[in-house]
Amino acid sequence: MARKVVCKICRAIGDTDTFYKVTNKNGKNAYFCNKEEYDAREKEKKDRYELLKYVAEEALQYDDGQIVPPSMVRRIEKLHSFYKYSVIKETFQQNKENIHYWMGVKDFNNEYGMSSYIMTIIESNINDVFKKWKMQRDQQIKMQHRKVDVISINQIEDENPTVTKSNNRDITMFLDEEDL
Ligand SMILES: [Zn+2]
Repeated sequence: MARKVVCKICRAIGDTDTFYKVTNKNGKNAYFCNKEEYDAREKEKKDRYELLKYVAEEALQYDDGQIVPPSMVRRIEKLHSFYKYSVIKETFQQNKENIHYWMGVKDFNNEYGMSSYIMTIIESNINDVFKKWKMQRDQQIKMQHRKVDVISINQIEDENPTVTKSNNRDITMFLDEEDL
């Protein structure tokens, strides 16, 4: 029997029959509206990890295990309220040389000062990256729509011969009956 459950991401209420179930390694079940919603969140989690790893290892050139300064993580999260983690990461990648240059010439008093400086570089460049990302995304959406259009045309062409064939059969049967 279906049981009422709550989506772990958006808190929508559904039931065990229709919701997407994920069982963790301790055997505990979690429910989500659908697989797409769950997959999107998993991707965000993965992208966040990749971004912070990149910032620590490539941008800040930290040693293994050294953490990204909390003030920097906070500014990244603030950016993430609008931008995807992948867009933020791309901005770090494109400004890596720039960041290294300023880290070399500027004498920062502390990590907070350094984080602020780097995040200002990121914030002033992210819209250029975002613009390109958005253009690519819109292009993809358009291509997907075009694919769907082609599929529906093929379906119409496939359906028509079937309709004609069954009509012919019906007429033949009718004529046979009259002959009798
Ligand atoms: Zn949901």
